[in-house]
Amino acid sequence: MDNLIDFQALVNSAAAAKEKAHCPYSNFRVGAAVLTEDKKIFGGCNVENASYGVGICAERTAIVKAVSEGHKKIIACAVSTALVDIAAVAKEKAYCRYSNFRVGAAVLTEDKKIFSGCNVENASHGIGSCAERTAIVKAVSEGHRKLIACAVSGDMDEILTPCGMCRQALKEFGPDMTIACADKDGNFQTFSMHELLPKSFGPEQLGF
Ligand SMILES: [Zn+2]
Repeated sequence: MDNLIDFQALVNSAAAAKEKAHCPYSNFRVGAAVLTEDKKIFGGCNVENASYGVGICAERTAIVKAVSEGHKKIIACAVSTALVDIAAVAKEKAYCRYSNFRVGAAVLTEDKKIFSGCNVENASHGIGSCAERTAIVKAVSEGHRKLIACAVSGDMDEILTPCGMCRQALKEFGPDMTIACADKDGNFQTFSMHELLPKSFGPEQLGF
């Protein structure tokens, strides 16, 4: 038992740290927690700065706290963000009776609004909408055209990344956005739009 890692405690600590995030510029709250070899947990949040490069990510905040207290060997890390949590809640509304593949998404707009969405299937399969595009349509139809982040939450053990059509749809409104792709437990990896859709087609090819 002594060798087992209490991941739930680690996730809880990351979620608690997230509440402290100082992110007035991105509004993208992130919390992290690291577990040291001697079973201590250190939590940290992202701390932004008007001089953007000075800012620090949640993971590095937690690492700095651990190491500055003399704990140099880290054996586990948990990361939590509000946008991923909101995407996970949106997933509960998924209308996916044909695929049974639930997906939730949440987009963050430049003016700090969050819009969430789920996949909405149809008996005429091609009519269905992915969760990401549901969220985009909700944001844009309310007048929010500039997206700076998106989270996607699935029910898989692996992280869920947006399909090709959604990558294109996201690029239209967020060419420089960050995309957080989560697994069923809320663990996630972040990617830039450029990573998910390199050498892409967009408004610039049409002279916009
Ligand atoms: Zn899609």
